[in-house]
Order: sequence, then structure tokens, then C-alpha cells
Amino acid sequence: MVQYAFAPAPQPCLTVAGTDALFPVRRIWCVGRNYGAHAREMGHDDREPPFFFSKQPDMVVPGGGTIGYPTLTENLHHEAELVVALKDGGENVPVDSAASLIFGYAAGIDMTRRDLQKQMQAKGKPWEIGKSFEQSAPVGAITPSSALMTAGAIRLTVNGETRQDGDLSDMIWNVAEIIARLSAQVALAAGDIIFTGTPEGVGAVVRGDRLRVEIDGLTPLDVTIA
Ligand code: MN
Repeated sequence: MVQYAFAPAPQPCLTVAGTDALFPVRRIWCVGRNYGAHAREMGHDDREPPFFFSKQPDMVVPGGGTIGYPTLTENLHHEAELVVALKDGGENVPVDSAASLIFGYAAGIDMTRRDLQKQMQAKGKPWEIGKSFEQSAPVGAITPSSALMTAGAIRLTVNGETRQDGDLSDMIWNVAEIIARLSAQVALAAGDIIFTGTPEGVGAVVRGDRLRVEIDGLTPLDVTIA
């Protein structure tokens, strides 16, 4: 039996709609600039190949709820995103078989310290500090599905007012292409989740704001900024 020098950290998990079984999170990956209009609103061309960054598994906020306003920033942004959860993995997965890795989908928010991200970007430094921080990855209950989700409304409201209103069909790289591309970069495995990018309309939130992400067919995600 394995003996640890101290108790290992608890396994971060997501809930699964319709069952008590939890989804154990292994890695959190995110796609940058995957909707043309959002890429353009951030000042970029929309035909660039996809690129990826990561958050740490224990930064996940299962089911949403109240999260703290993070340290160091004065410009905390919401990015509503479809999250795909994997039940299997591999390297160099062909686009044609990528769907066989899918466990299900959830609504998520890629919380972003935009001021820090832009400062680092301007210096040509990694923008980890803008993306990877405590409670930066709220994710709703996963709806099991092995189908490729290629269309459906995705919207985010703040205090009931619509801020982001897009469609999954506007993704530059679809879920299968994302899985294939990412699996060429790292070995994917069961428990990995991937934030698939955000439509246009990102913006700042302040303490007390109530955020809601709705994606057709999925459990809505509610987050309040403490
Ligand atoms: Mn994002």
C-alpha cells in the first residue's frame, strides 16, 4: 500500500446530470480565439490555427455558485464557453474518431484577469497569470453525450442582461478538430476537460454580479461574484 508523506489533495470533480457519479477532473485545457467575432474584438485575425493554454484542475468550480473576486486584477472578464469532457484519450487522434473520446458537455466560464493577460501579451510573456488563478474555471453539471455538438445557442447574462449571444456553429475549429489538434500537442486522457473558446461580447464583472451561462441542451451555470 502506498504511503504518502502527507495526505494527497482531494480529487477535483464535476457533477454529472442524472447520476450521483462524479467526473474526476484530470487536466483543464482551453482554446484561444475560437470564434471569429471574438478574435476580431481582441484585435486578431480569425484564421489563425487553434492554440491552447491550461488551468489547474483544482481551479474548477463545480456547479458554479459564489466565487471570490480574484487578486491582482481590476478587470475581471467573463468568457462563456462550451466545455467538452473526455472519457478516453490518446495521442494524434484523427478528427474522424475524436467523438469516441467524448463523455459529455457542460457550460463553463473561462474567468480571465484581462488587464494582466494584456500586460503580459504586450511584453511577449506567457499570459498564465491572466488565465490561471483560484476559482477561474466554473463548470456546470456535465450532460452525457457521445455526439459531436456542432450547433446550438450559447449565451451569457449578467444580472439578467445579455452580454454574449452566439452559436456553437460559429466556432472556427469544431470539437472534433480541437480534440485532434490538442492530442498532437499532449497525450489526452479520461478526465480531461476542454474549454472550447468564447463568442464575442466578453466584458468586465464586478462584485455582486450574477452571471448565467445557457447552452442549448445543457444544464445552465450560475455564478455570483462575491
Ligand atoms: Mn476562453
